[in-house]
Amino acid sequence: FPAGGSTLNTPLMDFILSETARFLDARPKTKALAERSGHVWRGGAPMHWMTDWATPIPIYAARAEGAKLWDVDGFEYDDFCLGDTPSMFGHARPEIARAIAKQAQNGMGFMLPTETAVEVGELLTERFGLTKWQMATTASDANRAAIRWARAITRRPKILIFDGCYHGMVDDAFVVLNDGTPVMKKGLIGQVADFTDTTTVIPFNDLDALEDALKYCDIACVLCEPVMTNCGMIAPIDGFHEALRTLTRKYGTLLAIDETHTLSSGYGGYTRSHGLEPDMFVVGKAIAGGVPAAVWGVTEEIAARMDQAQAAIGSGSSGIGTTLSGNALAMSAMKVMLTEVMTEATFADMTKGAENLVTQLRAVIAEQGLNWSVVHVGARVELVFGNLAPKNASQMRKLIDPLWLKALHLFLINEGVLIAPFHNMMLVSPFTSPDACTRLGAAISAFGERVTRYGL
Ligand code: PMP
Repeated sequence: FPAGGSTLNTPLMDFILSETARFLDARPKTKALAERSGHVWRGGAPMHWMTDWATPIPIYAARAEGAKLWDVDGFEYDDFCLGDTPSMFGHARPEIARAIAKQAQNGMGFMLPTETAVEVGELLTERFGLTKWQMATTASDANRAAIRWARAITRRPKILIFDGCYHGMVDDAFVVLNDGTPVMKKGLIGQVADFTDTTTVIPFNDLDALEDALKYCDIACVLCEPVMTNCGMIAPIDGFHEALRTLTRKYGTLLAIDETHTLSSGYGGYTRSHGLEPDMFVVGKAIAGGVPAAVWGVTEEIAARMDQAQAAIGSGSSGIGTTLSGNALAMSAMKVMLTEVMTEATFADMTKGAENLVTQLRAVIAEQGLNWSVVHVGARVELVFGNLAPKNASQMRKLIDPLWLKALHLFLINEGVLIAPFHNMMLVSPFTSPDACTRLGAAISAFGERVTRYGL
């Protein structure tokens, strides 16, 4: 299975063309909507990621329930993308629908706290262990807030991130390593500041590079996911998190853990499952079941330092926050998520389902003799086009070939399966049936057969 250099691979191009035609030919309504959309939405959709799927035009969602989604042409999909996490606990959950409908009848945005807000704060502390919380509307906003506060209280200019990370629309985190040299990501359109001055980027799992960077004591915080999930999936090596915590403490750098994706690890995220001790903790996307919301929490010590910094500048002048953050609608959804949806039993079901999927995928790989592997963290499963799980982004990038991804994803869509675009991530919700996992395994097997039969 050749990774990279696929542009000259004619059988692969032919395969993509025939799968594209297969998609379009069966979907007259989709084509008509795409045509209308092109007149009013720049780039053809309300949000550019909606056009970043393997299909030539977006799939127009008609409705979704549990782990199934239906498009406007009536095609049914097993949904392993789940909105790329917000719907990880299942689409259209009646508990959430009821709670937000009730709140909508009582008002949604007051710029005032509610009794539910107090309960939600208590629930967050109980679950994730950090003691003081703030709300944001997206995980991007929460990460930006955490970075700003980290700089404010440490009075240090820099942050440190790991190559290949993604933390949302966080300009400071758009720095990558290009052959070992930090450069700004091309996607940072219109940004004139050069973040390579203030963002240090090092390979994941490289503890020597970490200490080399931290020892100058000018880094306010390390912002990281506990398992990298946005450049394929990259697991930490044994002892990585212990060393990360020891080194950040040694050099007075704060540790901000972004659990927006790894919440799928278990009841209190990866942090709780693995006893991590972050100073700052961020989670968004699924936390309000798809209602836009994110939260970030800090320890008592960090909260006290924030209070001190705030006292010096006066209230209301932090320049952090948006009007809709902490609104009553999001709070009502979060309360239901924390009390009725994200239970121990739910996580146990999801993890069991994911383990079943991993077993099936590994069986396909073994049967077909494919040079692939599978990585997973809780309910999040990643198929890697290489047989050794990469330890950092530069190793992973060699295995992520856009055309191979396009071919697989397009084929899966035509077979009735959605997985997250950009890489091979599959999320298992509490509603994902063993049959759905079998269907996904069979579709990947059929793709694998074509890879070997046609030498794609
Ligand atoms: N953190 C991580 C780890 C993410 O993967 C993402 C988005 N994929 C974000 C933060 C940002 O989330 P949002 O786009 O909802 O702001």
